[in-house]
Amino acid sequence: MADIQLQHVRKFYDNGYHAVKDFNLHIRDGEFVVFVGPSGCGKSTTLRMIAGLEEISDGSLQIGGRVVNDLQPKERDIAMVFQNYALYPHMTVRENMGFALKLDKVPKGQIAERVDEAARMLHLDALLDRKPKELSGGQRQRVALGRAIVRKPHAFLMDEPLSNLDAKLRVEMRASITRLHRKLGVTTVYVTHDQVEAMTMGDRIVVMKDGDIQQVASPLELYEHP
Ligand code: ADP
Ligand code: ADP
Repeated sequence: MADIQLQHVRKFYDNGYHAVKDFNLHIRDGEFVVFVGPSGCGKSTTLRMIAGLEEISDGSLQIGGRVVNDLQPKERDIAMVFQNYALYPHMTVRENMGFALKLDKVPKGQIAERVDEAARMLHLDALLDRKPKELSGGQRQRVALGRAIVRKPHAFLMDEPLSNLDAKLRVEMRASITRLHRKLGVTTVYVTHDQVEAMTMGDRIVVMKDGDIQQVASPLELYEHP
């Protein structure tokens, strides 16, 4: 488990664009924080800097009390879930979920245990031997979540993970992710442009605009003082 601390974090892209201006935030251990704001306001850039997929131009990023600015994504012990959750088409659900562990040389028995446990939590037990093309969109998205969970990361980073799903499924998946978070208690940072999603899912909501934090508030505070 881990908290995440961003201090004076900035991002200048190579073309000089100042995508994230002065980002200061302490995400507590176990908290579910949502970054919300219009397209282009810097949500993904910030998330990608936390993940280590984008270099931090200035400031300090700590995960679990350790400065990780210069660490590779793999060394940060976090899992990322995107909207384009590319599952391996030739592998079964079980193989998809266990693949990262296999690469990490986790013993087979332990892989099976962790995959089974994640499958139970995500109601995928009955689908473990299917291939991705035999699954519905929501089921595939749950496999993508399962793949992240089995690694037992210190934190989850999710970038618009539901935006490719239809409205009904999106509402269902919000509930699945919230349930999963309650169960696992893993620090989660969730990016969305959807205010309803932010309000229903976040313990705290970070409202961004033009690379700045405009407001940090609980759903109730936002509801009362929008
Ligand atoms: P959001 O996730 O809120 O939609 P992003 O973090 O993706 O916003 O992008 C923030 C700003 O940075 C946008 O104006 C975007 O065009 C710009 N940007 C993103 N990636 C790059 C890049 N590789 N080079 C230059 N500018 C970029
Ligand atoms: P959704 O409405 O969520 O997109 P689908 O209509 O695609 O769901 O699927 C409904 C059910 O049928 C799901 O439980 C799914 O597992 C099953 N299913 C879908 N495609 C296949 C397939 N090619 N082979 C076997 N089962 C399938």
